[in-house]
Amino acid sequence: MERFPHDRIQLPRNMIENSMFEEEPDVVDLAKEPCLHPLEPDEIEYEPRSSRLLVRGLGEHEMDEDEEDYESSAKLLGMSFMNRSTGLRNSAAGYRQSSDGSCSVPSTRTMVVCAVVLLIAVSVVMVIYLLPKCTFTKEGCHKKNHTMELIYPLATNGKRFPWAKVRLPSNVVPLHYDLVLQPNLTTTQFSGSVQITVNVIQVTWNIILHSSGLTITKTTLTSARWSQAKPVEFLEYPVRDQIAIVAPEALLVGQNYTLSIDYSSNLSDTYYGFYKVSYKDESTKRWLAATQFEPLAARSAFPCFDEPSFKATFLIKIKRDEQHMALSNMPKNVTVPVANGIVQDEFSVSLKMSTYLVAFIVANLTSIMQGTNRTQVSIYAMPQKVTQVEYALNITVKLLEFYQKYFYIDYPLQKLDLVAIPDFQTGAMENWGLITFSETTLLYEDNTSSARDKKLVTAVIAHELAHQWFGNLVTMEWWNDLWLNEGFATFMEYFAMENIFPELPAAEEFLKLRFKTMMKDSLNASRPISFAVQSSEQIEEMFDTLSYIKGASLLLMLKKYMKEDSFQAGIEHYLHSHSYGCTRSDDLWDSMNKITNGTLDVKKMMITWILQKGFPLVTIQRNGKTLLVHQERFLRSVEPENWTSDASYLWHIPLSYTTSSCSSVLCPYAYLLDQKSATIELQEEVNWVKFNVDMDGYYIVHYAEEDWEALTMQLKSDPSALSAKDRAHLINNIFTLASVGKVSLQKAFHLLDYLERESDTAPVTEAVFQLSLIYGLLEKSGMQDLTARIVHRIEKLLGSKIEQQTWTDNGSLSERVFRSMVLAFACSHRLGNCSSTALKLFEDWKASNGTKSLPSDVMKTVFTAGAKTNAGWEFLLSVYMSPVPEAEKYKILEALASTEDVRKLIWLMQKSLEGDDIRAQEVLRIIATVSQSLPGHLVAWDFVKENWEKLIQKFHLGSHIIQSMVTVSTSQFSTEAHLLEVKTFFESKSAASSQLRCVKEAIETIQLNIKWMKTNLAELQQWL
Ligand SMILES: [Zn+2]
Repeated sequence: MERFPHDRIQLPRNMIENSMFEEEPDVVDLAKEPCLHPLEPDEIEYEPRSSRLLVRGLGEHEMDEDEEDYESSAKLLGMSFMNRSTGLRNSAAGYRQSSDGSCSVPSTRTMVVCAVVLLIAVSVVMVIYLLPKCTFTKEGCHKKNHTMELIYPLATNGKRFPWAKVRLPSNVVPLHYDLVLQPNLTTTQFSGSVQITVNVIQVTWNIILHSSGLTITKTTLTSARWSQAKPVEFLEYPVRDQIAIVAPEALLVGQNYTLSIDYSSNLSDTYYGFYKVSYKDESTKRWLAATQFEPLAARSAFPCFDEPSFKATFLIKIKRDEQHMALSNMPKNVTVPVANGIVQDEFSVSLKMSTYLVAFIVANLTSIMQGTNRTQVSIYAMPQKVTQVEYALNITVKLLEFYQKYFYIDYPLQKLDLVAIPDFQTGAMENWGLITFSETTLLYEDNTSSARDKKLVTAVIAHELAHQWFGNLVTMEWWNDLWLNEGFATFMEYFAMENIFPELPAAEEFLKLRFKTMMKDSLNASRPISFAVQSSEQIEEMFDTLSYIKGASLLLMLKKYMKEDSFQAGIEHYLHSHSYGCTRSDDLWDSMNKITNGTLDVKKMMITWILQKGFPLVTIQRNGKTLLVHQERFLRSVEPENWTSDASYLWHIPLSYTTSSCSSVLCPYAYLLDQKSATIELQEEVNWVKFNVDMDGYYIVHYAEEDWEALTMQLKSDPSALSAKDRAHLINNIFTLASVGKVSLQKAFHLLDYLERESDTAPVTEAVFQLSLIYGLLEKSGMQDLTARIVHRIEKLLGSKIEQQTWTDNGSLSERVFRSMVLAFACSHRLGNCSSTALKLFEDWKASNGTKSLPSDVMKTVFTAGAKTNAGWEFLLSVYMSPVPEAEKYKILEALASTEDVRKLIWLMQKSLEGDDIRAQEVLRIIATVSQSLPGHLVAWDFVKENWEKLIQKFHLGSHIIQSMVTVSTSQFSTEAHLLEVKTFFESKSAASSQLRCVKEAIETIQLNIKWMKTNLAELQQWL
């Protein structure tokens, strides 16, 4: 899935925390245990009683979700959970207890009986508490004693529900689904029937599967051995979206059975499940039904085994009105009339796949298509927008061919549809053979789409196509390893773009995102990227920057370490070995180790990166030709000054470095740091040394003061001695280190002085980003004299570059993206004559009634200048409401949301939440833009607070949109009053809300902001 694309240009600072565990032998919950090295499997103690892995010697027992569930279930059953265990003690200790509580003197016989009873009681306690424990080994505890699982919840009809866990049992597995659906776009209801062929692995009376919000009207079970279908008892436990089918007789091992279920439900009015959206076609309001099942919503469209590891084949039939069309994962086989203008489309049987990848759409769409080797590629959009899909078609064909060659596996389906949905929550979704997109991420139009839009559309398509292999062909076994899907798709997205579309500045974009991700990953609220999850909110929260960008960054680091060919061979081995199957992180490392044939132990290295949260700070001390390198966890912390990072963190870091006397043949040098400290001998004395070449590694580097000075001097004398990525990396590192007081802020600004000589995008982008963070904090705290001084400083550094820009779409794509960024920055800070030029262009455009074409790269800057006046704002709104290309529409919307008129801002946010005039998919874009301005940032937070219930109902708790809303609306607060307000607000909400990782991260960020202000304000006033 591609998250909301706006995030790519937003400053995401959120993170997650919290979890639960169930039978995941290769991952340990490190978030709650500060000490953590990668553990050998036999160091992990498995405790079935709490269904959680504990670190031996550290394992503080906490009540986990399962236990809470047991407790609540027990209460439902009229028993006290706590009394059950104390009851045992009472039965022994209370033996012959007198009324005053003291024991009377017992006889010898009594004492013997007492001893025997005590022995029995102790044995019972031992059996319950000790026997089920065992030291975990690969096979060992899977077949454990489920003593504590005897407490079952109650079904809706009051009977015992025969399953007590969040994850489904594996005693019955689905093989095939026959699914018939009939959505009614007028009544917005749908009816369905599903026949699921299952195979029995262990003898059982029950089939447990998922169903959410479905009204089930009939269930039967058939077997080849039975003469006819038998009615079955059916139980529901909605708390976990589970239903149980109780068979009339025991289901036998190795036998297949077919479960038939008839049901109905309403089309969802969120963007999740089988949902409906309205859109305007010319001026007519129309409806469309589509699906978004990842992660947990297939169950709301049909009863199913809704976990990624339960792969099966699907035969889908859709009944629809004649005037509509239907699409699904597979090509359509046949259409047959049903009755009264209703027809039924039947699609081919799918390949074996996970439920979250099933998709269907009923709508009125138009397409263009092109054939490749054996696959028909089609791009669908609303009829009036089909002229904007040609670019998508061209690049899809190219990307498909690239991936097939790189993975050495053909795309396995005969068709691939890419569909632009008029109102869509996320950026895109990789459903196998039927990829869905928002219009912004698929439509491209030469006159209105900027270079940045081109990069976005290309990136999102590259990402979703990579998923057809990473995710669809080979799927993570459970959501704890979501990074295997998303990290890989993100990595391949940038890799493919660099290879096929070198004119797009993909590498700069990826670098920028790595910097931002590390900023989030250095909070205590971060998490390991492979991370135990169970609840729906926890699973939703996995769709964050860590799974995507950190995952991709680690793969980039691994590729550099293994070298290109071995890495590619490892991927090939992994995909071939696990096609149509499911994997854990270890499976990937095993494939890589097979390829390296023991020369490199990829597994040993990579588990230090995926099981530990955060990343290392590598400190370099240079003494002549000797370098002393040392690693520790890098943490932006609100702890006291003398607080030190947890010493137990240790990474295996593939260091790379270059020096002032490096010749290109030998450089960069490499060294694997798998200890806390090591020494590296240089071949000769050098002026400077720079570690983490091109920032291909996921770590930050700190040098001694004289080395920082040497690097700064090199930048000032000849920046080209270092690569553009290295220059951007130095800027990022020194400002990050300044934020925790390891380097003075003055030194960081001192390094930036070389920018006058900088000509590349990446370092300027990073400098502007770092200065904008500081500017934002000072501006929102009312420090206008300091913000003016920062702007003055930037103008001095970048003034000539701003003046050099033309208001055109000329130049390379990289130059165009740079122009877009620099002019937007200049106009928003009123530098040079930027604002007056933009306003002049706006007035000309307005005078032509919006018909005159504007350069697409500066279009948003021009609109933003125009939106400052009431008349300009009203005119932009009227254009927004008329049918204009998607790329123009969102630029207008961001300009509208940049006004300083508070009433207009509130109106925009409100309208978007209502979803009629402004689509609800735009809520985040609007809130994010509003939050950036001085008057807006308070208004945005108030809006989120006041509409919290509506927002989480529409976008569901934990989703990426909700995460981002919390982040953007709170990340610039820096006072104790705001800290208290944010804390109090979320504490007043449900536990699920207050436990969100993004909330913890928001609180930590505000604390850091407060600390930053205390530390730096006086200093800044002195020298800035
Ligand atoms: Zn994805």
